[in-house]
Amino acid sequence: MPERKPIGPDAILVKKRRYLIPCTYHFYKDAPQIVRGQGVYVHDSQGKRYMDLYSGVSVHALGHCYPELVEAICKQVETLQHTTTIYLTEPIVNLAEALAGVLPGEVCRTFFCSSGSEANEGAALLATLHTGRDEFLAFQHGLHGRTKLGMSLTGLAFWRTDPHPVGGITHVPPPDCPHCPFGQTYGDCRFQCVSAVETAITTATSGKPAAMFVEPIQGNGGITVPPPEYFPKLRELLDRHEMLLIADEVQTGFGRTGKLFAMNHWNIVPDIVTGGKALGGGTPIGFFSTTDDIAASYTRPGASTFGGNPVTAQAGLKFLEILRRDSLAERSATLGHQLQNRLKELMQKHDVITDVRGLGLMVGVEITGGSSLSPAECTDRILERMKNAGYLLGKTGPGRNVLTWMPPLTSESEELLEAAAAFENVLQTL
Ligand code: PMP
Repeated sequence: MPERKPIGPDAILVKKRRYLIPCTYHFYKDAPQIVRGQGVYVHDSQGKRYMDLYSGVSVHALGHCYPELVEAICKQVETLQHTTTIYLTEPIVNLAEALAGVLPGEVCRTFFCSSGSEANEGAALLATLHTGRDEFLAFQHGLHGRTKLGMSLTGLAFWRTDPHPVGGITHVPPPDCPHCPFGQTYGDCRFQCVSAVETAITTATSGKPAAMFVEPIQGNGGITVPPPEYFPKLRELLDRHEMLLIADEVQTGFGRTGKLFAMNHWNIVPDIVTGGKALGGGTPIGFFSTTDDIAASYTRPGASTFGGNPVTAQAGLKFLEILRRDSLAERSATLGHQLQNRLKELMQKHDVITDVRGLGLMVGVEITGGSSLSPAECTDRILERMKNAGYLLGKTGPGRNVLTWMPPLTSESEELLEAAAAFENVLQTL
């Protein structure tokens, strides 16, 4: 069959404006039509090649169309695509077993669904079933999904569209030392961000919330890395209030931050871990996992039509096999270190960069404005010019001014240095 010619970005925009709900947002003034991906690269309808440094928002840990993953997916597609969980199939239980082998501590039982939002919905239900309580805490600038509850748990104005969010959720300041909400300096601060959680529990809730949702490193919040003391102190506080800790590792999971799960950086074992994105290797997946004890509270029938379906489960199994076989978490730590060092050198030379931060290959570069551009406008200009030069970056942060680098964990050091050189060229054009 002859290959169909791509319709091109203009025709896509016409259809998008006509047929998609207008909230469906996209990057770039002059957006390309992406038609093909291979490894760290994607190609547009004009045949132009881009280095994908955002990995479809932390999904393509192995890069695009990783041959072993493609083979595993295709083999399963040709054999059995879907039955749902009312029938017994093998991939779902094998994936749950493999996940138990990588999840922290005693977290070993999983429910599969199809997205990160759904995973957080499920985690909230599980926490309510287990504790008999129904209020939640979450971070300001956190993001937990697009569903009614996921959006209500979200603390970012940009993604909080709902004029009537779900009640019973209290947002607390995140541990964000570069922009300390208390105007303190790390080292002298006495961790007011931790005390603020206790104040919120005692003043803004019934005193008995079910759980606190946290992103270990805030992704959409602008790559906010907590100080090392934060999560140990928070864990102790939540234990005292008999609250569960729910770690949303949808973006940070599976080696992205240089450890299998970001909470491993601080040796914290959450009560519930939620995830998705990278595990499916590009196929839609979500999951929440917990301990035997907590899982025992959820016994009434539950089902997700596509959760753990043979194709995504097979993709997940192959992904986990490669992640461990090729030590990709360690690779992420090493490459992330190199990338951050290079970007920090650029920060010394270019005033437009005000901070470089992150862990592993989850790196944020904060941008300030100039006399004529706001920080968000300046970030957009860099993002657009990087795209024109053949490099796709992300954009996050409450002020939409943090350029986000989350390249595939399989990237080569030379590729990342090349991208950093292109970034420097763009900075020189500002
Ligand atoms: N949690 C986090 C931390 C996320 O980054 C996202 C999506 N970016 C979600 C949840 C929602 O995941 P999904 O889009 O798969 O529903």
